[in-house]
Amino acid sequence: MTGKAIHRASGATVTPEEFIRREGPQYRDKGIYPECIVCGSVLHPYGVNSTNVTARFDHPDRTDCLLSSTPNPRYIHLQPSDWDLAAGKRLRETICRLENIKQAYAVCRALCFNHLKVSEFLEMFREGDRKRIWAYKGLQEWVAPYILVTLVDLEPNGKRRFPLRFVLRKPARQPIDAMWVSPEDCALEPVFADSGRPMARDPIVLSDDRIEAARADTAWIPDVMTKRLKECCAHR
Ligand SMILES: [Zn+2]
Repeated sequence: MTGKAIHRASGATVTPEEFIRREGPQYRDKGIYPECIVCGSVLHPYGVNSTNVTARFDHPDRTDCLLSSTPNPRYIHLQPSDWDLAAGKRLRETICRLENIKQAYAVCRALCFNHLKVSEFLEMFREGDRKRIWAYKGLQEWVAPYILVTLVDLEPNGKRRFPLRFVLRKPARQPIDAMWVSPEDCALEPVFADSGRPMARDPIVLSDDRIEAARADTAWIPDVMTKRLKECCAHR
């Protein structure tokens, strides 16, 4: 269930009340339905004229969409208080500028204990696109890499001995907005991706000095790598 959906005709995000106001209670007869911001499913407004329940959009059954009532627990931290699709488009364009994409990679790499293949970063970025993280209302550019590393489990390889996952620790019941509203209350905890057990390493606080130093240091990234990093922005 979610409080916002896309009104297909206008491309705007609407509440259930706004959707009914635009399309009328006979929207079904017109074949016009609201669409989920994340998974693109057709949704159903519920409780618009009820005094007992808060109006919402319902998903079809048996979905694990993050905005449904049965979200995949792996990604349950990805719940913003609201969405801004236009700002999300602008933010993604900003991050895709050459220096900024290098910085995003450098931050993700530092978070992942200085081992992150470009292909792994591209996968994180693709997941970010798929889950529409850029459109979280109010999301600040500096926070985006801290979200990206929570989206993909990293397999062991020559330099990484264990499967790595980052779990976001934030104040209970707060939306992901806490990451930019009160970053001092948030941290990324490294866990073994297969068992979920915490690693014997301290959680990384947001805007950690070591991590932010990596953001400022991108001169070492060779051109061939930069070219590959740009691939994440090529499609869309
Ligand atoms: Zn959905």
